Amino acid sequence: MKKIFLYGNWKMHNGIKETETFFKDLCEHVCEDVVICDFLSRNFLEICIFPPFTSLFMGARILGYMGKTGLFIGAQNGHYEEKGAFTGEISFPMVQELGCTRVLLGHSERRHIFNESNELINKKLKASLQRRLRPVLCIGETFSERESDLTFQVLENQINAAIKGLDKENIRNIIWAYEPVWAIGTGRTASPENAQEACCFARSVISKVVRDEGKDKTWNSIPILYGGSVKASNVAGLLEQPDIDGALIGGASLSVESMLEIVHAALHRG
Ligand code: PEP
Repeated sequence: MKKIFLYGNWKMHNGIKETETFFKDLCEHVCEDVVICDFLSRNFLEICIFPPFTSLFMGARILGYMGKTGLFIGAQNGHYEEKGAFTGEISFPMVQELGCTRVLLGHSERRHIFNESNELINKKLKASLQRRLRPVLCIGETFSERESDLTFQVLENQINAAIKGLDKENIRNIIWAYEPVWAIGTGRTASPENAQEACCFARSVISKVVRDEGKDKTWNSIPILYGGSVKASNVAGLLEQPDIDGALIGGASLSVESMLEIVHAALHRG
């Protein structure tokens, strides 16, 4: 049975009060649900929520109090330096101090709205791995790149630029998220076949770097998530694909009800 990763990116939504209610409800439901509990405790399911910075403390406090295996909290961003004169920035040790164990990097909104370059993403990736803060690295093509048949080229460039200078051991700790830009927040989910094709290609590029010839197959189990308008009605079809290990969910992760619907649809697929 493959392990499923269901990760929720809240972007700039849900303040402290909403976060408190969300995490309390989530933990309560998860503790009462024997199926979810079973998947979490056997390490076949991982749920992680990425709230805005100001809500991290509240979410982490509730998670810590509940002490539930398989439930995590992560940051949406971070600076690659540990401290210094970087007004408005927050470092990886700071979010770790709050209880974060994951960090989102290279999200298309960071790349396209905040002009984050591949070089900057590479620096952040190195710093997060050095701190043992597990990165979720987002890659994906725009609509015009897909229309121009550049999808594979874009993915290969983004992957190679992100992991430049990293050793195999570190690369194996990255969680990848294939998020076609045209599918994020648009309601236009990639078809399971298109998502599989892109994730399979991404896996082949990563495997070229991390595989030890004839020795191990750890590259085969590198988690690759799909993101882009995932909801309860389409998650099962995506997870049935051999190279899709989970989902990065934006809008549909904002309420406990819809997040739990997705969890149930994912676990009861087929
Ligand atoms: C995202 O923010 O990474 C995302 C996939 O958003 P949505 O699910 O809303 O498309």
